[in-house]
Amino acid sequence: MALLVQKFGGSSVGTIDRIQKVAANIIKAKQEGHNIVVVVSAMYGETDRLIQLAHALSSDPNPREYDILVSTGEQASMALLAIALTQNNCSSRSYTGAQAGILTDNVHTKARILDVKTDAIRKDLANGHVVVVAGFQGVNEHGETTTLGRGGSDTTAVALAAALNADECQIFTDVDGVYTTDPKMIAEARLISQISYEEMLEMASLGAKVLQMRSVEIASKHNVPLRVLSSFNEGPGTLVTLEEKIMKKRLVSGIAFSREEAIISLSGVPNRPGIEGHILGLISEANIEIDMIAQNATDEQHTDFTFTMHRGDFPKALKLAEQLALELGAGTIKSTANVAKLSLVGIGMRSHTGVASTMFKALGNADINIQMITTSEIKISVIIEEDCLERGVRAVHQAFELDKATSEKFPAHMES
Ligand code: ASP
Ligand code: MG
Repeated sequence: MALLVQKFGGSSVGTIDRIQKVAANIIKAKQEGHNIVVVVSAMYGETDRLIQLAHALSSDPNPREYDILVSTGEQASMALLAIALTQNNCSSRSYTGAQAGILTDNVHTKARILDVKTDAIRKDLANGHVVVVAGFQGVNEHGETTTLGRGGSDTTAVALAAALNADECQIFTDVDGVYTTDPKMIAEARLISQISYEEMLEMASLGAKVLQMRSVEIASKHNVPLRVLSSFNEGPGTLVTLEEKIMKKRLVSGIAFSREEAIISLSGVPNRPGIEGHILGLISEANIEIDMIAQNATDEQHTDFTFTMHRGDFPKALKLAEQLALELGAGTIKSTANVAKLSLVGIGMRSHTGVASTMFKALGNADINIQMITTSEIKISVIIEEDCLERGVRAVHQAFELDKATSEKFPAHMES
C-alpha cells in the first residue's frame, strides 16, 4: 500500500466529463489499496480568464486581491472533483491551500512555500478519505491567501509529497511524459523513461514547459520520486529521480529550446575595471532579466559586450544600450530580436568530451550560424536565427541519435 500524491493539470479537469474520468482513475487507484492525496489545477483556461478580468479593471491589480481572485479557479475544481468522488461512493474531502496547511512567505502572486502542516490531511487519510487539495495557493503568516506563480500546482503537489513522505508524486498532464525534444516540432522525439533531477531542472529552466521549475527543485532537495504521465493515455510516463537510480544512462538526454529571444552587442566599449557591473547594473535596474553574457577584449583598450534577453524586454534593453553607447563612447550596437536558443542537456557531458564538437558540427552541416555559446557542466546552449531553429533541433537530435532507444554511437556513460 503506497501513499501517492496525484496532480491533475488544467486540461485533465477541463470539463465535467474529464473530472468524471479523473474521479474514475482515482477510485481505481484507491481500490488497488493506495492512499491518495490529489492536487488539482483550475479548469483549463480559467486562470487566464480570471487574470484578464482583473486586467480589465486595472493594469496593475492589487496583489492581495489578485491572489484571492486567481486562487478561486483551483477551489472550484477541488470541490467539483470531491463532489464527483463522493457521488461515486468514494469518501473525499477537499481543502483550500490554507486548510491543507500550505504556509508561504508574504510575496503575493509568486509566493514560496515555507512549510506544510499535514496533521489535518493525515487524519483524513487515516479515516480512509481521498484528500483533494487546491493547487497553486497557500496562506501567509497573516492568514492572507497567496499564490505560487503560473504553473504552481506542480509545486503544491511536490511540496505535499515531500511533507507526507509519499512514495511517488504523479503529475498527470496532457502529454505522455518528458520527451527528448518537443514532439510537436520533431515527430521522431522519443519519450524519456527516466531523467535525473538535475537534467529536468535544466530542461524546465530552458523552456520545456512540462513542470514548474520550482517543483523540480523541491523534488530534488527532498528526493521525491516524481513521475510525469498522461491522464488520457495509459503508460509509465517519465520518472524524474536521482542520477544513481537511472538504469539506462545516455550521454545526452534532450534538447530544449526557446524562441522568444533577442540579442544585443555593444562593440568598442572602453575596457576598464567595473564596466561590466555598470552596464548590467543599469539593465537590472530596469528589471530586465539577462540570460547569456559574453565579453571579449578586441584590443588593449576595448571590449565587445554581448547579452541576450527575453524578446519582450528587447525594446527597453535596446534603448538602454543606446544610452550606454553614448555615455561610454562605445562604437557600434548590433542587435536582433529574431533569435532563438537551442540547448542540449545531459549528465554524460560531465565525463565525456566531444559533445560540443558533435553538436557544433551538426549545426554547421545544417548550414546554421551560431551567434553565441554558453556552457555549464551538463548543458550547451547556442543562440541561432529563429528561422533555423527547427532545422537545428532536428540536426542535433539526429546527430546524438536521440530518436533511438539506445545508441551504439553514443553509449551509456560510465560512472567513475
Ligand atoms: N492554474 C494555475 C496556472 O494556470 C496554476 C497551475 O495550473 O499550475 O498557472
Ligand atoms: Mg502546468
